[in-house]
Amino acid sequence: MPIHVLDHPLAAHFVTHLRDKTTKPATFRTLSYQLSLLLAVDATRDLPTMERVVDTPLESAPGRVLAQPIVLVPILRAGLGMVQPFLDLFPDVSVGYIGLERDHETAQAHSYYCKLPPLAGNRVIVIDPMLATGGSAAQALSLVCASGAVNPRLVCIVAAPEGIAEVEARHPGVAIHAAALDRGLNARKYILPGLGDFGDRLYGT
Ligand code: URA
Repeated sequence: MPIHVLDHPLAAHFVTHLRDKTTKPATFRTLSYQLSLLLAVDATRDLPTMERVVDTPLESAPGRVLAQPIVLVPILRAGLGMVQPFLDLFPDVSVGYIGLERDHETAQAHSYYCKLPPLAGNRVIVIDPMLATGGSAAQALSLVCASGAVNPRLVCIVAAPEGIAEVEARHPGVAIHAAALDRGLNARKYILPGLGDFGDRLYGT
């Protein structure tokens, strides 16, 4: 499976508190921030770098800097809860937005909003905290690929096997980074054990 599950005791600690139904929205937002920071580091560990020589106060020193601009594409609305930590780590990142809703007739996700910066030549990271059926994530990946993204990746907090399979079927080779791999979906397509509705818990709705 093209899934990379974050393996760090702190990630497990944050996920457990996110799952806890007694965690209040303010704490939920903080935990989402902290966990997304870890995910942002993990999901960018293979970013290309290039040589750069700098002058220290004592002498010149060879070093390396990031070689490729990053474009972040959160899926509205829950993806917004993961944006800030990426911005804090990568201040020069550009951000696009994709709003998706499910068509009740066809059960297909369709886009009601799509605003993307230029994607060609950039490292594109789609973010969606809950990879459940995978319909929205796969649709978002199709949109960014149609706009020029090459080999985008997907970062989520909790992933279900059904969602991973859907993304893999529609976008073979796309890497998925998650903080937890859960058991599956219930009849209402919520992840089990999951953490409930991410957007509702983030915004207290
Ligand atoms: N979206 C959520 O917010 N939670 C789930 O469990 C599935 C999709």
